[in-house]
Amino acid sequence: MRVLVTGGAGYVGCHAVDALLRAGHEVRVYDNLELGHAGAVPLGLLIEGDLAEGDKLSDVLSEQRIDAVMHFAAYSTVGESVTDPGRYWHNNVLGTLSLLDAMRATNVRSLVFSSTCATYGVPKKSPIAESTPQDPVNPYGMSKLTIERALADYASAYGLGYAALRYFNACGASPHGHLGEAHANESHLIPICLQAALGQSESVTIFGVDYPTRDGTCIRDYIHVDDLADAHLRALERLSPGAGLRLNLGTGRGFSVREVIDACRRVSGREIHVEIGTRRTGDPPELVADPSRAREVLGWTARYSEIDPIVETAWQWHVAHPAGYPDGPGAAFEHS
Ligand code: UDP
Repeated sequence: MRVLVTGGAGYVGCHAVDALLRAGHEVRVYDNLELGHAGAVPLGLLIEGDLAEGDKLSDVLSEQRIDAVMHFAAYSTVGESVTDPGRYWHNNVLGTLSLLDAMRATNVRSLVFSSTCATYGVPKKSPIAESTPQDPVNPYGMSKLTIERALADYASAYGLGYAALRYFNACGASPHGHLGEAHANESHLIPICLQAALGQSESVTIFGVDYPTRDGTCIRDYIHVDDLADAHLRALERLSPGAGLRLNLGTGRGFSVREVIDACRRVSGREIHVEIGTRRTGDPPELVADPSRAREVLGWTARYSEIDPIVETAWQWHVAHPAGYPDGPGAAFEHS
């Protein structure tokens, strides 16, 4: 298949591009490079553009003879979505509608969409199955849920075949060493811990130690980015016109913030200084997936289920790329 990957210069997107290419698919990346890195895209595959440019998207879909789309391009920082929701409604919602309409206009009917466990809000039960009511508590989760609803309507009315993959906490880096997590303003726990281990920051602040969990800190389901990429490939092969898959992607295991920090200490062999902070707005105490439906439907299970091997891949990336991606188109691939 020839697959257009929006946001393919971003963290999860570039790992999916890698997996698609390794599986023998053809890829084009559509990315505005606002948050993505040209260095993370193999040479010759990048088309620079914004989701808001509907005509450009239509041209790309038809001129490049695209068969299917994997749609990663989105903003994904919960806290920012609370303080600046307009960015999320415009880019995540309107931007995706622009993509869907371009797909309609060019008769491209297959879409794998990055959704999120943030669509569940603060669930009453753990682990979280797909039948758990979706009730987001922040604009980021709401923007993704809104698109899930639009996808269902586009499927029944226009014959779109789609998968909405609800990620838990994406983390880790390619074991091949060339791709990893490089955000300009890092907010995620594992890279923040590893940056502290490298001496790039003084300490890590734990956002709340008074949660009703085993050690008082939040519990999350950390899913390796290559496992996510693998699930996208499998979903792509199972799309059918007019039908939708809605699947949780997690390991089914939860680790607390303190347990993740300890894993980062073990793997790096470095001390990581910790400060105790207050709770971060919008953080549910526990988010752990029930991934059994993804196993049944996709034949998929996470290959990384222990936290140390996940952190190990991230540590290798951070040690080798303390300043993130090398500059220049395709730069990450020059020695891989
Ligand atoms: N967290 C923390 N300190 C940090 C960053 C994150 O205590 O500097 C906690 C955060 O409150 C959450 C967990 O680590 O409980 C994972 O947060 P992250 O931002 O990595 O992912 P999210 O769960 O927001 O998608």
